[in-house]
Amino acid sequence: MRLFDMHCDTLYECVMGEHELSENSLHIDLKRGLEFDAWGQVFAVWMPDTIRGEAARQQCRRILERAHTEAVNNPDKIIIVYNSEDLDSAFKSRRCATILAVEGGSALGGRLETIDIMSGLGVKIITLTWNGANELGNGCLSGNKAGLTKFGIDSIKKMESANIVPDVSHLNEAGFWDVIHTANRPIIASHSVSAGVFNHPRNLTDEQFKAVINTGGLVGITLCCDQLGKQTFECIQRHIEHYLSLDGSNNLAFGCDFDGADLPADWGGIQVMEDIYEYLYRKNYEEYLLDRLFFSNCYDFYRTALTNAG
Ligand SMILES: [Zn+2]
Repeated sequence: MRLFDMHCDTLYECVMGEHELSENSLHIDLKRGLEFDAWGQVFAVWMPDTIRGEAARQQCRRILERAHTEAVNNPDKIIIVYNSEDLDSAFKSRRCATILAVEGGSALGGRLETIDIMSGLGVKIITLTWNGANELGNGCLSGNKAGLTKFGIDSIKKMESANIVPDVSHLNEAGFWDVIHTANRPIIASHSVSAGVFNHPRNLTDEQFKAVINTGGLVGITLCCDQLGKQTFECIQRHIEHYLSLDGSNNLAFGCDFDGADLPADWGGIQVMEDIYEYLYRKNYEEYLLDRLFFSNCYDFYRTALTNAG
């Protein structure tokens, strides 16, 4: 099976825990990921809510530079994707198509020009907030009901001009609708399951889900226990079924949150995706649909998003 996963925090763990990406005890390493028939992976730089300003900018840069070091050290295993040619070349040569993301707009340090620097380092996605408040807006656990700040609105416009996709996972509801009203291009919710199945502040209401897919964007199913309700394959299927009932078959993917969320020990890590695929196959999901969810929806989305790079 082919896998294209929209979200993991593995880079942060590699830097902070001094692990190598090639082989480690984390949820993701190159050895296990490259077992799939094709592997696309969004590697996000997670920004904790305890770091702000220049310190946030510098920490983000340091972790992004680590991604480039890994690519230099593993040229036969990774391609950092800047454009659609890189994406295709990664899959043709059976390397990990590595898309870089930043999880938390605090990494901008309140400066719009940071978006250009990130773009130069290959960042293609910015999650506007983590759970708390930052210069752009308020996360879903911040306790603040206000929408995006002016800097948040300006950041979205600048991201779009730099061909960076805004990600609304973690954002509060008022901020979410501000993004919908501001963005002129597709947006994503990289790791957010359905509030219609399990009510949690991180999950998307049916209206939010429809609004994201109406932009032509993607929503990623997370494996995070708190958001799923129950961390079982059956529960993952319930979230998928609900989104599919809202016409999500061309806009639904996985954003597993490997190395960001705890997993049951017997799931191990990225290798569990093979088991989830098998589980859904046995539940009579057609292979065509499974390939859309596990790979093709992401592939089509990013190929188009990267082709628009100009
Ligand atoms: Zn997250």
